[in-house]
Amino acid sequence: MERVFNFAAGPSALPLPVLEKAQRELLCYPGAGCSVMEMSHRSSAFQEIAAKAQADLRKLMDIPDDYAVLFLQGGASTQFSMVPMNLMEKGGTAAYAETGNFAKKAAAEAKRWGKVVTVVSSKDENYSYIPEITDDLIPTDAAYLHITGNNTIYGTQYRTLPKVGVPLVADLSSSILGRVYDVTECDLIYAGAQKNMGPAGLTVVIVKRSLIGKASDEVPAMLNYALQADADSMYNTPPCFSIYIAGLVFAYLLEQGGVAEMERRNAEKSGLLYAALDGSKLFKGSARADSRSNMNVTFTLPSDELTAAFVKGATAQGMINLKGHRAVGGIRASLYNGMPIEGVQKLVEYMKRFEKENG
Ligand SMILES: *Cc1c(COP(=O)(O)O)cnc(C)c1O
Repeated sequence: MERVFNFAAGPSALPLPVLEKAQRELLCYPGAGCSVMEMSHRSSAFQEIAAKAQADLRKLMDIPDDYAVLFLQGGASTQFSMVPMNLMEKGGTAAYAETGNFAKKAAAEAKRWGKVVTVVSSKDENYSYIPEITDDLIPTDAAYLHITGNNTIYGTQYRTLPKVGVPLVADLSSSILGRVYDVTECDLIYAGAQKNMGPAGLTVVIVKRSLIGKASDEVPAMLNYALQADADSMYNTPPCFSIYIAGLVFAYLLEQGGVAEMERRNAEKSGLLYAALDGSKLFKGSARADSRSNMNVTFTLPSDELTAAFVKGATAQGMINLKGHRAVGGIRASLYNGMPIEGVQKLVEYMKRFEKENG
């Protein structure tokens, strides 16, 4: 069976050379005589794998030494809780930008711990744009501002990160390593691995060390950043295999020219698709032009019937998972680092044929 072009929003396509390397090493990791899945997380072989993964991620994102890099579990959704529990006192105040479903879920979890002030919202236009956030909108007692850097479901993305007087927390689950971020503009970054870094099961947290260590005793050990940092993310058994695969992805990206090169390729891929949308009378892009994501491209067709026919036809030609999220409908093409330009070219050609036949 042939591999298809997988446009899934997550878990999503991984670079083929990474999968091939993992396949070669699956039964017998070099020097270990067993699979990474069978190794002790305390073994020197795995310690090396984890240390190299962290070192390569630090290189890729130019992460300064005063930031801890944590390899955790529980997905980005667990960070919705860990962020407030570690960065604000119980009953304290935090500022949240409401730019979509995940942003709302993050705020809902923070509400269990303190007071949430929604400083901006793009709900009025079905989350199709990124509102501007200025410092005067932030309550003076806010422990931090939380943003969702890329809105996976709606296909919108911050082009520049807001500059405010309180610590900035960014959920970069669906855009980390897809464009260049200046880590020093953020105080905490978190991301589930399954969009642009590796398999599900691993969550990466990059946090300024000076911000952690103030969590109250009520915070469970597993949810305490300082404790996880002190234990080198091995307070308990880490998601070993996911860390290993993410490590292979990091090494591959370095080899390919790093994040700047990924950003260039993603601009090329998304540019091709947005140009097709702009030139079409049948397909309509969902996101406002100034807020378009280079990772998730969302668009609609005039009817549910045409949408279903488009998805069905794409699947038959080896382009899968193009159906939009159930919350918004339409089409979503996710173009993470693992999606080659050939997949996007094939999609655009199909869109042109489909428009000729159905326009
Ligand atoms: C996918 C996603 C999440 C949820 O991630 P889980 O790892 O499934 O908890 C949160 N935020 C964003 C921006 C996402 O894309």
